[in-house]
Amino acid sequence: MDFLPFTRPTLDEATIADVAAVLRSGWITSGPKVQAFEAQLSEMMAGRPVRALNSGTGALEIALRLIDIQPGDEVITTPLSWVATANVIVLAGARPVFVDIDPVTRNIDLNLIEAAITPRTRAIIPVDLAGLPVDRDRLYAIANAHQLRVIEDAAQSFGASWQGKPIGSFGDLVAFSFHANKNLTTGEGGCIVLPDASQIALCDKLRLQGVVRHPDGGMEVDVAGGKYNLTDIAAAIGLGQLRHIEEFTLHRRALAWHYFDFFNTELGCELPPENFDDSNWHMFQIVLPLDKMTISRGEFIARMKALGIGVGVHYPPIHLFALYRGLGFTDGQFPHAERVGAGIVSLPLFPGMDEDDVERVCAAVSEVMRGALA
Ligand SMILES: *Cc1c(COP(=O)(O)O)cnc(C)c1O
Repeated sequence: MDFLPFTRPTLDEATIADVAAVLRSGWITSGPKVQAFEAQLSEMMAGRPVRALNSGTGALEIALRLIDIQPGDEVITTPLSWVATANVIVLAGARPVFVDIDPVTRNIDLNLIEAAITPRTRAIIPVDLAGLPVDRDRLYAIANAHQLRVIEDAAQSFGASWQGKPIGSFGDLVAFSFHANKNLTTGEGGCIVLPDASQIALCDKLRLQGVVRHPDGGMEVDVAGGKYNLTDIAAAIGLGQLRHIEEFTLHRRALAWHYFDFFNTELGCELPPENFDDSNWHMFQIVLPLDKMTISRGEFIARMKALGIGVGVHYPPIHLFALYRGLGFTDGQFPHAERVGAGIVSLPLFPGMDEDDVERVCAAVSEVMRGALA
């Protein structure tokens, strides 16, 4: 049987033809495809301004510049995320302040945020891990009460919603990623959604070297922008993905449903919350009962691989990486993130799978666990 990876992008022939057409067109960097991609994204986001970028990390970096984060400022975030979420804070010269996760949702524990706020706190960066949205009502109630900005790291939650409203269509600044493994991909890419039109001009400058072009052919630079623009090659992929995003999300949801039907709950693994309203099912993650197992997570992954199934790890807790230990973080500070981060694995879930694949994964987990429980 074919190897089943934990994820794989779904790209149709029409998209491949559109990319070829861009390559033949004579214009391959930012141009009409980027504009069309942004217009469609903006339409999905209730008409809010959207700027396409070359990564989700870049979207977070630009967001931090738009809210004028300064050295010494503190930014509250979760320790259980892709390290980009915290690296951008460090790179901006600010201090990441981690708040432990809720072990059920695996997202930042909103009950713990207020205790972490100090006079230096400027912003919160929540992460919708695996596409499960953080409670936006409570999040914005806390942010508004303390006059904090919010940069939603929605890298994993494109196509997810909160109480019927698409993530990105409301709230403060929102950053999406279109990395190859995300629910909507451009190979590499991302976008930022702005809350209103007031900072479009600054965002455009930050995206490309601070340049403002004048109609007479001249230009001016009054801010040090970066290099964050998306190519038309990538935007053509994104436009092809947008034609299918609703069906992708529905298919992911159906596969997740099937996991709940077929997963043997007697193995002691923790399943994700059964959220079929808001989540885009970016990942299907289980937490292994390591304390009851005779093999490590690494050995579990190796045995799954031997059965033809790819398993991912998303993610080790950020505060225990050497860079963050160097900033003073240590073991035991965020016990839920540490336990979940040690035992979490991502099982295959992508639109190209069918229900038989889900059953095959469940059978393989059962087989590996039967030989691994003490
Ligand atoms: C993917 C991801 C990012 C970064 O996106 P890139 O496009 O890879 O730069 C940031 N945060 C989270 C939670 C992610 O999953």
